[in-house]
Amino acid sequence: MTDLSRLCIHTETVKPLTIEEVARKYRIHGIPAVSVWRHTLNDRDPVKVGDMLRGNGLNIASLVRGGFFPSTEAGKRKKSIEENKKAIEEASALGAPLLVQVCGADPGQVLNESVNQIYEALVELVPFAEQYQIKLGIEPLHPMYSDTRSAINTLKQANDLVEQLDPGWLGVVIDVYHTWWDPSLKEEIFRCGRMNKIFAFHICDWKVPTENMLLDRGLMGEGCIPIRQIWNWIILAGFDGPVEVEIFSEKYWAMDQDNYIELIKESFVRNV
Ligand code: ZN
Repeated sequence: MTDLSRLCIHTETVKPLTIEEVARKYRIHGIPAVSVWRHTLNDRDPVKVGDMLRGNGLNIASLVRGGFFPSTEAGKRKKSIEENKKAIEEASALGAPLLVQVCGADPGQVLNESVNQIYEALVELVPFAEQYQIKLGIEPLHPMYSDTRSAINTLKQANDLVEQLDPGWLGVVIDVYHTWWDPSLKEEIFRCGRMNKIFAFHICDWKVPTENMLLDRGLMGEGCIPIRQIWNWIILAGFDGPVEVEIFSEKYWAMDQDNYIELIKESFVRNV
């Protein structure tokens, strides 16, 4: 990729910045789009934050994140549905077309039971999302997170869920960090494309060695993920949305964030 027109950067990638700083710095650095993590809204009015971001020339790709449905306790499952309804309302107020779903898992029960609970939760949630015209994107997570973060660990599982439920507002978020290892990735990307269900595409890199399971993601080109190859499959599958840089890294959060944004731009142009 030779230009930055499809670049989007998650607020969590530049975690030390407030949402106001994100708006100003992205404008100065020529970043055209943002995905907003819910905690950056804090007590702010999402309508005003949305206006502020758009006023700085930014497209809002998504609100991150809902989900975390399974629990051995029925009360907690009910609470998570309520929390997700709140997140859908927030996405609507912000003007974000998509709510990313990290589906969750409870280590107190087998994964299949968590998958069943995710299915039941989505059956309840999708009509609510439809009312607000907010898309829900299931993001499969790497199996190392299947203890507490997601019982949906492959793109095939996410595609299967979408196919079973089959509503227009439910689709898939494909993140290279979580899916690059999967031998059926290519065919499942094309399957997802045929269903017209690729809702978003996230990138970063898998460092070798990875020193922290959660907070040591690399810049593009810094690890072993064939990002450009996967991106080509995504394009061939018909996706025409932004490429979202989502990096959790204590190392990069400790840097000057202006210098870091420049590094993101360089590595994006070179490796995507
Ligand atoms: Zn992601």
